[in-house]
Amino acid sequence: MRALVVGAGPAGCTAAVALAGRGADVVLVEAHPVIRPSGPGLVLQSAPLRALDSLGLLEACLERGRAHEEIDLCDASGTVRTVLRPPSLLEGRPASVAISRAALGEVLVAAVTASGTDLRPATTVTALADRGDRVEVRLSDGTTEVVDVVVGADGLHSRTRALVLPAAPEPRPNGQLIWRAPAPRPPEVTRYSMLDGGPERGKVGVVPVSDSSLYVWLLEPDRGVERPHPDRLAAAFRERLRPFGGAVPLVADRVDDVDVRSLQSLLVPLPWSRGRTVLVGDAVHTTTPQMAYGVGLAIEDSVVLADVLAEDDDVPAVLLGFGERRFDRCRLVVETSVRLGEWEQRPPADPALPGRLTGRVLAELARPL
Ligand SMILES: Cc1cc2nc3c(=O)[nH]c(=O)nc-3n(C[C@H](O)[C@H](O)[C@H](O)COP(=O)(O)OP(=O)(O)OC[C@H]3O[C@@H](n4cnc5c(N)ncnc54)[C@H](O)[C@@H]3O)c2cc1C
Repeated sequence: MRALVVGAGPAGCTAAVALAGRGADVVLVEAHPVIRPSGPGLVLQSAPLRALDSLGLLEACLERGRAHEEIDLCDASGTVRTVLRPPSLLEGRPASVAISRAALGEVLVAAVTASGTDLRPATTVTALADRGDRVEVRLSDGTTEVVDVVVGADGLHSRTRALVLPAAPEPRPNGQLIWRAPAPRPPEVTRYSMLDGGPERGKVGVVPVSDSSLYVWLLEPDRGVERPHPDRLAAAFRERLRPFGGAVPLVADRVDDVDVRSLQSLLVPLPWSRGRTVLVGDAVHTTTPQMAYGVGLAIEDSVVLADVLAEDDDVPAVLLGFGERRFDRCRLVVETSVRLGEWEQRPPADPALPGRLTGRVLAELARPL
């Protein structure tokens, strides 16, 4: 099988590794000249760690990231109210790992290279022609690839989606803004903590990602006001962190390189493929980060896609089946995250509801793929 994967984010890199691992010849095109994931860090939960393990990438992520067995849920002052202890799905392995996006990107690109994938930065797709028994793909470097399958892994604003599923819905804002920034890790900040300041002040997370670094996020209502000038972003972020206690005052003055954006979600209805072209990752299911599962779903997509393509030669039918197999799980994450975001903005009468829903959904996601 010859495959063309569009986009070298987590979905595209893991798709390339998984397909090459099943014997496919893979071309991976990435629009950016340098493959450098943006954003400070992320958390990989237990089911994504299981999927990474099946691709042989878990050890490298554990080496580069920081394991977390527990999460402290605190009030705004930093007093711990509940300690979450999600179960691990792999014997002797942690329940979750926090890792910088750059480190994850390096692990994935190294795996792509080692898999024999033909990785082409600064290249994109200009046209796709599905001839029934193959797809002819015109690339921006002037070449044409003839492949058995095209995997669109080009993220939230996917051009592949626009080409093959032009009627797909647009991403929707969920009414929240997220601020994020890396910072050096003070030695005393060892635990992953979340501090809840209520709907007005928002929620803060402090997430150690290695011995030397961590990242801080703050979720707040999107009040529709103009964003501060880039020169003022760090000061504006520190200002918002001021009401919080716990680990926050230890790190607030160290945040730099601040990113602020509104959150969006998208769940494209089935089918997720047309003919021999299929979409994976954020291109078909973008989740807001409340469950910290977007990369996780992308990695799982790749593992399942490579499995099903190895089982049957009828590529269009296999791709339709892939979407059907993945849809409910992805919908669960997207819809639960949106619901948790709504409750962050308008807390439910029963304050235990978000915790109960999160626990139920994590248990559901722990089931085999
Ligand atoms: C604030 C925030 C926090 C998050 N935290 C977490 C977390 O803790 N844990 C977690 O699991 N997930 C988290 N996520 C979700 C996660 O970032 C995404 O789900 C994940 O990046 C999706 O991967 P992807 O490969 O599908 O898309 P992307 O990461 O968007 O990658 C797409 C790639 O395709 C390339 N590309 C785009 N267009 C083209 C084109 N036309 N041709 C070629 N290449 C193209 C892009 O340059 C990029 O490299 C978070 C998301 C946000 C917004």
